[in-house]
Amino acid sequence: MSFLQLDSLAKTYPDGTEAVRGVDLCCQRGELIVLLGPSGCGKTTTLRMVAGLEKPSAGRILLEGVDMASWPPQRRDVGFVFQFYALYPHLTVRENVSFPLGNRALSADAQAQLVEAMAERLGIEALLDRYPRQLSGGDQQRVSLARAMVRKPRLYLMDEPLGTLDADLRLAMRELIRDQQLRDGVTTLYVTHDQEEAMSLADRVVVMEGGTIRQSARAAEVYADPADLFVAHFIGSPGMNFAQGEVRDGAFRAEEFVWPLEGAWPPGALTLGIRPEYVRLASEGALRGEVLVEEYMGSCRYVHVDTPCGRWVLRSEEETGSQPGEQVGIELEADGVRLFDGQSGRRIQ
Ligand code: ATP
Repeated sequence: MSFLQLDSLAKTYPDGTEAVRGVDLCCQRGELIVLLGPSGCGKTTTLRMVAGLEKPSAGRILLEGVDMASWPPQRRDVGFVFQFYALYPHLTVRENVSFPLGNRALSADAQAQLVEAMAERLGIEALLDRYPRQLSGGDQQRVSLARAMVRKPRLYLMDEPLGTLDADLRLAMRELIRDQQLRDGVTTLYVTHDQEEAMSLADRVVVMEGGTIRQSARAAEVYADPADLFVAHFIGSPGMNFAQGEVRDGAFRAEEFVWPLEGAWPPGALTLGIRPEYVRLASEGALRGEVLVEEYMGSCRYVHVDTPCGRWVLRSEEETGSQPGEQVGIELEADGVRLFDGQSGRRIQ
């Protein structure tokens, strides 16, 4: 039995917006699942339904096999971190962080110890006697995290908890959340639209789009073997290169680009995809094009090439010496080639 199970979960808002359309998801105990997708894909709505802050239009949410539909938020025993702090303004940081411990049979001393230990972990021990209005945005967000993690709930639900922090702090907090979550073993649903954050944190990445799940898999699998064209394009920066074409005479063909296929392929529309690190410039090459620009990124370079199949991006560790306007060949590494159904967009190989 899954620890948390979302079963055909759907939400249509009163104005007719179908925010979530039949989401099925099984989470194991202790798993850290990241819901990742573009703005408006239904991540927050899904999380709010699990928290009990939004009523599903259809479907079930099962916690250890028990339907939580009729449970109010406080009975669900979740530690929720919102993107925008949501601290009690009239309480000090100490009181905010200790708030979730209030209805537990803990002595005042034990509560104080838990609050201080958590404050120390998050680097906010010097702020315990201040009020939220006396804190920076980053500090307020750390207080929110401390409040969610000061006890061990059944679920952590985190909605873009690091969105407002600067880059260094974000990295430090990311490590801390992962460390704390591993320590506690609390099953976690974490929402972000930042794929780097998703890839580095998640046991499993759930890619959403248009209120549905496109793929649910380990980060490395989502990157290497995307389930469809949407995931292939959305994951990776830049995303995958594509050529839309067809199968004819045992080969993929798009304009003059021909890529031999192994095995028997029925004729039909096919899209070939390949990530920038699997293509390089070559005097000869399966595909030809004109260099648009070479971008210097510090640790690598991206060469943009205008091809008959559209713009392709090649990743190079070294300077390629290519000039805008130059005619070049593009060589593909067979290992990196992925093939997608030309109609449905689902990955075939
Ligand atoms: P973001 O990353 O921008 O927060 P999201 O993936 O979390 O986006 P949701 O906030 O779940 O997406 O929103 C999903 C869709 O539902 C969007 O089209 C949004 O405009 C719509 N929506 C959200 N809340 C409401 C509401 N209360 N009433 C009507 N529509 C809503």
